[in-house]
Amino acid sequence: MRVILMGPPGSGKGTQATSIASNLGVDAVSSGDLFRDNQRRDTELGRLARSYMERGAYVPDEVTIKMVMDWISNPAHSAGFVLDGFPRTHAQAEALDAEMKALGGVDRVIFIKVSEDELIRRLTGRQICRDCQTPYHIHFSPSKTEGKCDNCGGELYQRDDDKADVVTTRIQVYNQETEPVVDYYRQAGILREVDGEQDVGDVGKAMNAAIGG
Ligand code: ADP
Ligand code: AMP
Repeated sequence: MRVILMGPPGSGKGTQATSIASNLGVDAVSSGDLFRDNQRRDTELGRLARSYMERGAYVPDEVTIKMVMDWISNPAHSAGFVLDGFPRTHAQAEALDAEMKALGGVDRVIFIKVSEDELIRRLTGRQICRDCQTPYHIHFSPSKTEGKCDNCGGELYQRDDDKADVVTTRIQVYNQETEPVVDYYRQAGILREVDGEQDVGDVGKAMNAAIGG
């Protein structure tokens, strides 16, 4: 099963990706997490990505496509995958289509719909685990112990690009670059839309139903 999770920044892709993937028996990958992992390891890719991410711009297609295609073509992911945050541009969608052609294409694209006001509330209150990347929210889904991850005990932090000024740019970039990709999959007939403003459990149920249906 090959599934893409789409939706604006803060719509809940990362919150849902792991459990959706585990229901399907595949792995989830977030392109943003791959970039942040490269930053932590201070690789050349990580340094390049940082210069775009810190101002809310997209990392260039060429390097983004190569990074995600390397992950997909790893034999450990041959059973399928859940992609979170990729593709975000037409060039990325075309590259993924080309890679998937021999396998029969992508099975489902799930679009999580959330209003702009809610996205800003979610992003500016988000905290992430430094070790396992699990997202929390200071009000909507706080960790049991303040500042510590429930899963692994790792330290929680606020991403630099979740500060209010960068959040606005990221939503604008999404509207310009990624909404047309959502339309592309809608026209291809594989897109299912879910209401992302329900509580986390109900969003998950709606997504699993949309993948099955
Ligand atoms: P994305 O991966 O799409 O950028 P996240 O999954 O990281 O979004 O979610 C963004 C923020 O919103 C996080 O702080 C998360 O805890 C919170 N969140 C996610 N889903 C919901 C929901 N259904 N209701 C309220 N808050 C949510
Ligand atoms: P995310 O973790 O999905 O919110 O992504 C954080 C940042 O990483 C984005 O604002 C971009 O700068 C970069 N990024 C993640 N995925 C992509 C992608 N598919 N294409 C370009 N840039 C990306």
